[in-house]
Amino acid sequence: MSFFKTGARPFIIAGPCSAETKALVSETAAALKSKGIHLFRAGVWKPRTRPGSFEGKGVEALEWLAEVKRVYGLQVTVEVAEPEHVEAALKHGIDVLWIGARTAVNPFQVQHIADALRGVNIPVMVKNPVNPDADLWLGSIERFERIGITDVAAIHRGFSSYGSASQYRNLPNWPIPIELKRRRPDLPVFCDPSHITGKRAAVPDIAQKAMDMGFEGLMIETHPNPDAAMTDAAQQITPDALGELLQKLVIRGQHAATGNMRVDLEYLRQQMDSVDAEIIDLLARRMELSEKIGLVKKECNMTAYQPERWREIVETRGARAEKHSLSLEFIVALYEQIHHQSIRRQLEILQSDAQNRVKN
Ligand code: PEP
Ligand code: MN
Repeated sequence: MSFFKTGARPFIIAGPCSAETKALVSETAAALKSKGIHLFRAGVWKPRTRPGSFEGKGVEALEWLAEVKRVYGLQVTVEVAEPEHVEAALKHGIDVLWIGARTAVNPFQVQHIADALRGVNIPVMVKNPVNPDADLWLGSIERFERIGITDVAAIHRGFSSYGSASQYRNLPNWPIPIELKRRRPDLPVFCDPSHITGKRAAVPDIAQKAMDMGFEGLMIETHPNPDAAMTDAAQQITPDALGELLQKLVIRGQHAATGNMRVDLEYLRQQMDSVDAEIIDLLARRMELSEKIGLVKKECNMTAYQPERWREIVETRGARAEKHSLSLEFIVALYEQIHHQSIRRQLEILQSDAQNRVKN
């Protein structure tokens, strides 16, 4: 039985973004104990975007987590980003390690961390790299599997984007974790709605969406007084809010077959969405060509409708469609619409004044 597979229920990881003080860690753990979580999280080495901000309490905070284990009987996890972090975490009896998004992008660093774990079989969770690359994510996971770690899970925490007007801190880009699930159906994949959304009000929706898409668990940042948090204040929720979120969570189709089918369906739909986007882009390109042809026709004083050309289009497109087992009737009807639209555009061009003449 895998460490991360708890049967029907999603695997729940909760705790503060950072282990800020001993009191905060134990207060949060006490409040979460009754919420039925599986693993208590807290960052002790914090990867900060800019220098000079709070970077975690380090080894001192590992002692506080060891106490959470002793006093509340909760298993604990921390982020490790250096071999020395691994060594210190193991020394303090940390139960599970996680690799952060900024570390998962770097194969050298991931390998250094994996090497520090040789001969130790501790569960490891690997967050997605900040850039949307399913191979790179899988590569980081495989580095732990190769040195003998048998319990590895992936955590989807969204992807960085530049200056986007997105409503999320990190774009979910669902096709990436879905691709990971398709390639590794055996791998538990969790979702971190806190880092995806960046704001607490949106956390429950993303948590539910992840459940609906067949994710196996959730990592949710939880703080007794979120607004006063030293890191990620806007996205943390209180232990009570977590309790409510978990209670309201609808878990559908817990049978593996249903779960896999749901993932398949989502995967196919994502592919269909991108094919449709291509179709529309191609139609736009075709219309641009039509307009250029319209300008030439105007220059040569030709009619917009050319029966010979239309017959040729129907014949060649029909033949191609039949090769793909598409019905001739369907393709002709589709091309009638497309051709009709082209002719309309060309008529507008023929009727416009000379300003649109073809330039050599
Ligand atoms: C975190 O979990 O607090 C964290 C730093 O996450 P990420 O690596 O996803 O940014
Ligand atoms: Mn955080």
